[in-house]
Amino acid sequence: MATKVYINGEFVAKKDAKISVFDHGVLYGDGVFEGIRAYGGVVFKLDEHLDRLFDSARAIMLRIPLDKEQVKKTIYQALEVNGLEDAYIRLLVTRGIGSLGLDPFECKHPQLVIIADKITLYPREFYQKGLELVTVATIRNHPSALNPRIKSLNYLNNILAKIEAITAGVIEAVMLNHEGFVAEGTGDNIFIVREGTLSTPPMSAGILGGITRKVVIDLARREQMEAREENLTRYDLYCADECFVTGTAAEICPVVKIDGRVIGTGKPGPVTEKLSELFTALTRNP
Ligand code: PMP
Repeated sequence: MATKVYINGEFVAKKDAKISVFDHGVLYGDGVFEGIRAYGGVVFKLDEHLDRLFDSARAIMLRIPLDKEQVKKTIYQALEVNGLEDAYIRLLVTRGIGSLGLDPFECKHPQLVIIADKITLYPREFYQKGLELVTVATIRNHPSALNPRIKSLNYLNNILAKIEAITAGVIEAVMLNHEGFVAEGTGDNIFIVREGTLSTPPMSAGILGGITRKVVIDLARREQMEAREENLTRYDLYCADECFVTGTAAEICPVVKIDGRVIGTGKPGPVTEKLSELFTALTRNP
């Protein structure tokens, strides 16, 4: 079935799903987005994703043309129109067409786009053998400059870090913040396990409030495991027993090497595996 994309109030063929070059989303990365998963026809954590999208929009004074209930309905319509049950859904809201100047208030018609497509997962070997990461020189955006809680269409900060990772021969980076503490990956949050306790950087470290991050913290606590949100240093990463990253697309992916240091045994650890099992059970049998 040919993909149909929701844009400007209607579903159109993929080849006709176009944004003007005068849209400030294109000119300035002025807009917000979400990446969401559907498992077996059920959109996972839809309310949480919509809350984050609407909060991101509010933070940049961007009006979303539909309300939350309407967006919800349209997302389910996008799945139906495309005959999808397991899908990756990309929502974006651009500022709309304006002049060549920055002024967002000249853009009268924000554009909502919904793409529902098949999910392309990371290769299985990453989940079996674990990822290697490097910390990079590009720090995460300072929260007073552009708060990382805003999931904006301007991902250059993360892209610069990704370039550093790839040129260093690995696929994902660990970004530090302006204080030198661990922040997050370029498209995922990071966790460590030490002596049975789970730790992840707090929101105050300047990170995106990952939906998967929250699910993992809740799952761990349900299992009576201690889960802390605390500042972490590179030393904490190097000396962890286990490490993993979380995200909508990646779910839970083990990390076995950081900056050349082998983490724990160098293999995905038991806590990571247990949490992955619980996560799979939750998403596949909600
Ligand atoms: N951090 C960043 C910078 C991201 O882009 C993402 C992916 N949206 C995440 C963390 C993980 O968030 P989530 O679990 O909501 O996908």
